[in-house]
Amino acid sequence: MEYENYQSPWMNDELAMLQDAARKFFNKEFAPHVERWNEQGYVDRSAWNQAGSAGLLCAEIPAEFGGGGGDYRYDTVIMEEMHRAGVTGWGNQVHSSIVAPYIKHYGSTEQKQRWLPQMASGDMVGAIAMTEPNTGSDLQAVRTTAVRDGDEYVINGSKTYITNGQQCGMVIVVAKTDPNARAKGISLIVVETDDNPGFKRGRNLKKMGQKSADTSELFFEDCRVPVGNLLGETEGEGFFQLMNQLPQERLSIGQAAVVSMERAMDVTLDFVKERQAFGQRVLDFQNTKFTLAECKTNLRIARTFVDQCLVQHMEGKLDATTASMAKYWCTEQQCDLIDKCLQFHGGAGYMDEYEISRLYTDARVQKIYGGTNEIMKELIGRTLG
Ligand SMILES: Cc1cc2nc3c(=O)[nH]c(=O)nc-3n(C[C@H](O)[C@H](O)[C@H](O)COP(=O)(O)OP(=O)(O)OC[C@H]3O[C@@H](n4cnc5c(N)ncnc54)[C@H](O)[C@@H]3O)c2cc1C
Repeated sequence: MEYENYQSPWMNDELAMLQDAARKFFNKEFAPHVERWNEQGYVDRSAWNQAGSAGLLCAEIPAEFGGGGGDYRYDTVIMEEMHRAGVTGWGNQVHSSIVAPYIKHYGSTEQKQRWLPQMASGDMVGAIAMTEPNTGSDLQAVRTTAVRDGDEYVINGSKTYITNGQQCGMVIVVAKTDPNARAKGISLIVVETDDNPGFKRGRNLKKMGQKSADTSELFFEDCRVPVGNLLGETEGEGFFQLMNQLPQERLSIGQAAVVSMERAMDVTLDFVKERQAFGQRVLDFQNTKFTLAECKTNLRIARTFVDQCLVQHMEGKLDATTASMAKYWCTEQQCDLIDKCLQFHGGAGYMDEYEISRLYTDARVQKIYGGTNEIMKELIGRTLG
């Protein structure tokens, strides 16, 4: 469906050109490999360099540091086209829209020069490691420590469920520089992974969906990095840096939910127009029409909501509560809508060869990562007074 008479208010001619180029790139270069990538459990490492050469990495990073010189709208366009082409497991949202912006916002000029050009070319893949085997939602309770020893930090701890964990050349580690404090004891420290004997990659975890996404355990055992790898001027700023950046991450999850719903509607409409039962198209049953009418309405509401959030974000006005609403509500809608769409496929909906099956299994994690939807409601609830 070309979303008929709706046009995102933030779109312009330049973004439309990027959209066109990204669409062609993903359909030609990535889509043919998706099935193989799903089977092997990761996207080929060379895909990052290919995307870098095509200008599809770090779109919101200034050109002086090798990036696209755009803003978050550019990353949005690229993310949307990736989903439309069915390339759901590639961790570019983490790399370009989460990790690179931390360096952009909190890195020194020297740090930006060191990491961003390599990230923009695809030579270095980025990851961020918050979650640990014993703590996810309660971020202030992380146990990984970074103890200063002369000009180095010595990092010890384990992380899990880390996107891009197998391929990352750098990882932003959420660690306690003051283990006795909660929020104020947290710092963000970059670990460069090559030739670092204290850094170890664990398993690439098998998952129900997003099968080509590399989601890994990471271990830090007396892992030494220069003190110059701290992000920010002083220790203890990490939690506040995270809180400032999480709205963009949460918005991006809400936006991904919307584009997945659009894709689900497209494939479902194709199916129900084709499929016959009791001498008529499945679409012609009133139940199908009414349910899909509800889906289409909810989808339009979700689309206009995330578009409005994006406009607010561009104006620097997207607050954490609204971003939490976008993440929570759109991902709930995504799971609900895709479930209904799958039902209209009958048995075919359960078969891997139908795209709706993959959309269904890919969707489930959206309610979990980036802060669970319960945590989103907790955050929204705090504003009730
Ligand atoms: C595919 C995938 C990719 C991921 N990528 C990354 C990554 O790149 N980097 C990273 O750091 N992490 C990543 N994560 C981790 C993810 O962010 C966490 O799984 C998530 O934040 C939840 O943490 P947890 O798994 O420890 O669950 P827990 O925090 O143990 O929660 C368990 C349950 O308790 C509920 N709960 C917890 N606290 C409350 C509360 N106060 N009120 C009500 N209910 C509560 C939760 O909502 C949940 O239902 C990823 C996870 C997945 C599955």
